[in-house]
Amino acid sequence: SDNGPVRVRFAPSPTGMLHIGGLRTAVYNFLLARKKGGEFILRIEDTDRSRFVPGAVEMLTESLKWAGIHPDEGPGIGGNYGPYVQSERLDIYQENIKTLLENGSAYRCFCTPKRLELLRKEHTRRKEIPKYDNRCRHISDATIQEKLDAKTPHVIRFKLAECVDSWHDVVLGPRSVELWKHEGDPVLMKSDGFPTYHLANVIDDHAMSITHVLRGEEWYISTPKHLQLYKAFGWDPPEYAHLPLLLNSDGSKLSKRNADVDVESYKKKDIFPMALINFITSMGGGFTEQHEGMWSLDELIQRFDITKLNSHSCKVDFERLQIFNRFE
Ligand code: GLU
Repeated sequence: SDNGPVRVRFAPSPTGMLHIGGLRTAVYNFLLARKKGGEFILRIEDTDRSRFVPGAVEMLTESLKWAGIHPDEGPGIGGNYGPYVQSERLDIYQENIKTLLENGSAYRCFCTPKRLELLRKEHTRRKEIPKYDNRCRHISDATIQEKLDAKTPHVIRFKLAECVDSWHDVVLGPRSVELWKHEGDPVLMKSDGFPTYHLANVIDDHAMSITHVLRGEEWYISTPKHLQLYKAFGWDPPEYAHLPLLLNSDGSKLSKRNADVDVESYKKKDIFPMALINFITSMGGGFTEQHEGMWSLDELIQRFDITKLNSHSCKVDFERLQIFNRFE
């Protein structure tokens, strides 16, 4: 992915308002695209219907608009592009998953919720990691056909390879994980035909020619799975860069209880968008020089260097926001 233009995306799930950690991820993606003369895409990952919050898509797009972070393409008309929305792309996932069923890297699983629940209980009782035992890897073609004819509900699972997945994370450095030791075969498609995050995320990153996946560290554990999916599809994976978490001053994960974490609340308090952007990018490195004073968007772009992002998490000092806000 060193040839051709840089293409990045911000891919929030519509589960609530835009968090300042999410804005930070969006801003770094945006800066990388601008710095490299590439494109920035907005994609709504809404395939988990149980977590969908009505109005969240509008809130997310409004907050980004307020911050001045606009996508370079997408549905809609020039200069005012909307996001790509995964729930409107189901046929793409259903079409692509056929490749995995045909080449044997995915299989149909007919295990009932009840069996899975008993399995989980049994693992817990034995003090083992609860994981699917991959039983349906071994059912015969005849049985599968029988169950399909009877319209038995089923999911599609990915056959995890028993291997070590290694990659060089742009921020975290060299990484290796042996996923199959910790997890059973993950579900790629649910019984209602909706893809899971993993399947839709990989298919879309490929379909949208994403070159760099810059996302929060909480997604780091998904990366080996995604790398295996790329291999199973026969596609080249993007570069991965995981952003360390933002923490409260006591080292706990930044949460609503300790501070305002939604972009919307800063907008309401008349914080200037550029003050908020300077504030959230001033904590974790990522620039060719020390980020102290207020920088314009152009200065942020010019000085951005993805390889200079810190690989450790950082504590948020909210006092500094007020300092930046006074600059405006
Ligand atoms: N939908 C995920 C989220 O809500 C995106 C993770 C990713 O960027 O791959 O953050």
